[in-house]
Amino acid sequence: MSNNTKVTDSFNFFNGNDPKELVKKYGSPLYVISESIIRQRCRELKNLVKYPKFIPNYSAKANSNLAFLEIVQSEGLNADAMSPGEIHVELMAGFKPEQIFYVSNNVSADEMKFAVEKGVTVSVDSLSQLETYGKVNKGGKVAVRLNPGVGAGHSAKVVTGGKKTKFGFTLDLIPQIEETIKKYDLKLIGINQHIGSLYMEPDAFLQSVATTLEVSKQFKELEFIDFGGGFGIPYQKLNDQPRLDLKKLGEEFDKLLNKFVKEYGKEITFKIEPGRYISAESSVLLGTVTAVKTNGEDKYIGTDIGFNVLQRPVMYDSHHDIEVYNDSKEDEKVTVVGNICESGDILAKDRVIPKAVEGDIIGVLDAGAYGYSMCSNYNNRLRPAEVLIRENGEAVLVRERDTFEDLTRHFISIKE
Ligand SMILES: *Cc1c(COP(=O)(O)O)cnc(C)c1O
Repeated sequence: MSNNTKVTDSFNFFNGNDPKELVKKYGSPLYVISESIIRQRCRELKNLVKYPKFIPNYSAKANSNLAFLEIVQSEGLNADAMSPGEIHVELMAGFKPEQIFYVSNNVSADEMKFAVEKGVTVSVDSLSQLETYGKVNKGGKVAVRLNPGVGAGHSAKVVTGGKKTKFGFTLDLIPQIEETIKKYDLKLIGINQHIGSLYMEPDAFLQSVATTLEVSKQFKELEFIDFGGGFGIPYQKLNDQPRLDLKKLGEEFDKLLNKFVKEYGKEITFKIEPGRYISAESSVLLGTVTAVKTNGEDKYIGTDIGFNVLQRPVMYDSHHDIEVYNDSKEDEKVTVVGNICESGDILAKDRVIPKAVEGDIIGVLDAGAYGYSMCSNYNNRLRPAEVLIRENGEAVLVRERDTFEDLTRHFISIKE
């Protein structure tokens, strides 16, 4: 193997496999998932606090591959769902209905009914949705999502607390929540919040925890409070970006929880909803250099990783480190692009990477969260395969690459 694999080596990511051989066997582009890393991240978060009734709900929207969910389930985590489809795959992966929490937002009565009939707890986040829920499940249990007034995140598109977001009940609405709960004879058993995605400092999270706990005291029948996800991972590993200080976050978090249960007088369950923290570092997206060219001052490295395969750089301006699996000792500044017919199809702009030539295999790091789960067939391209590297180093296929039949499966011709 080459010397251009500093980050993946530091994790023993490929665990004896050669990325070039994986592409030869399974094709390109290819998502490669590490079982060991998923398990490690699950354990870190399960042990985040010492408080005994604490459980992370893995937020499946970050990565809902079935094998991935089966691993998370076997680690003893619960799961969050954002849609009936996610509830469906979570049940398939072995989560029990009572281990699933449907954090809904602007959903139809039918979707709520689907969750209720499956035995899944539902959270709603507006008076209008609480009314709908009351009609669907009169006399039932419900959770409500509060907006604690604090937001955080890597892009305005993912900040979900504070003033500028569509999510949650602002705290002034609490009297009306109580009224609607009474009207439909509902039992308010849970409070949840989610302030945003990818914070690297504990402060905003802890502040929102303190606020939500304070507000929650007035609700007397709570079984759980869920503090959301958003735990960040360092995407700039080649620049030695430090990790989120989980130890510090956990210690402060623990203190707040223990103080609350003393005052509340009941050991309720506390939850978090991490998606990215568990999944992002578990996958490397392999691709192939298909063209190298210069245009004026700029050198372009053309690859088969279009934004249909990884949307994050285009959608959120996100940074992903890139490794080049060759023996080049020379670095150069290039713009790495995909094969989609849009100028915006840029994976990395003005990036210094090892000199790459046609046929080289590159790895886009930390691609496990919002990677495959946001893939599309745009340009009628086939979504890639996914391979899992088991803990013993064996590579197994866990999702097939799309075929032309998959592309045309739902077409209905009008030709006689
Ligand atoms: C997206 C989402 C999460 C997970 O966010 P991450 O940043 O991936 O941890 C958790 N809870 C809710 C309500 C979400 O919408």
